[in-house]
Amino acid sequence: MVPFHIDLTGKTAVVTGGGGVLCSAFAKALAECGAAVALLDLNGEAAEKVADEIRLSGGKAAGIACNVLDRASLEEAKKKVLDTYGHIDILLNGAGGNNARATTDLETVELPPIDPDAPRPKSFFDLDPDGVDFVFKLNFLGTLLPTQVFAQEMLNKNAVIINVSSMNAFRPLTRIPAYSAAKSAVSNFTQWLAVHFAPAGIRVNAIAPGFFSTAQNHDLLYREDGTPTERTKKILEATPMKRFGQPEELIGALLYLTDNASSGFVTGTVLAVDGGFQAYSGV
Ligand code: NAD
Repeated sequence: MVPFHIDLTGKTAVVTGGGGVLCSAFAKALAECGAAVALLDLNGEAAEKVADEIRLSGGKAAGIACNVLDRASLEEAKKKVLDTYGHIDILLNGAGGNNARATTDLETVELPPIDPDAPRPKSFFDLDPDGVDFVFKLNFLGTLLPTQVFAQEMLNKNAVIINVSSMNAFRPLTRIPAYSAAKSAVSNFTQWLAVHFAPAGIRVNAIAPGFFSTAQNHDLLYREDGTPTERTKKILEATPMKRFGQPEELIGALLYLTDNASSGFVTGTVLAVDGGFQAYSGV
């Protein structure tokens, strides 16, 4: 259930990462407000499952297998969207995430003397450049390429682009340097796109979620036996509201940024939905 209704009747939204936890909630909310929603996801089955749920509840939706890092795959998806719905008005760049290959075990540098016989935690010095490249590409290029492909159809139509940034963009979190840098790039790129597309009437903003427990951060937040990690405790201590967010708590921000009547003069912002994380210095 959306927290308030905006009228998206006759509009088409493309939601990348639409098979995932947060973007499936975004897609369902846009559909509930009347938009036809194309859910693009590397996991085509997950996208189709969410599309099914939307159709079952009376909405219009299509699940499309698509890799946001592959221009040909994006062009093919665009053709399907245009063949089915005829136009594109909203682009939500949600595909993204971190990867274990770009995550260190250590929070800060280990100083000598180091016991050569002790098990070696993965340090900054051990980070796999391919893992770093993978995460940077997924989040940054994975926002840029769909925008290149879909925004061509969105010029001069009061269209809307929404990117998904993160708390990491404001202040980097320990252990995930590539994800932090990439989300910082997404926020910066949101401003760049807002300027670039202003003459074409496309508003470009980003949502920066605080901490939501989902598949992509599960291994950092919970041990194999399901108990919370030390990192979970730290996150909750640093979140003044002392809890994780629920995906539905992002919907108000999404609808506000999507609705031209509410945010028609808002472009280039990064809106935090974070239980106060960004505001809290820890003291
Ligand atoms: P999720 O893993 O549930 O969803 C991500 C989706 O993206 C998955 O369905 C996955 O299949 C898809 N995807 C991955 N690579 C793709 C590719 N190359 N092409 C197309 N689709 C691809 O994660 P989520 O937590 O729902 O994340 C959604 C967005 O929110 C991400 O951009 C993430 O970085 C961001 N975010 C999440 C949190 C959080 O606390 N969960 C916080 C801040 C930002």
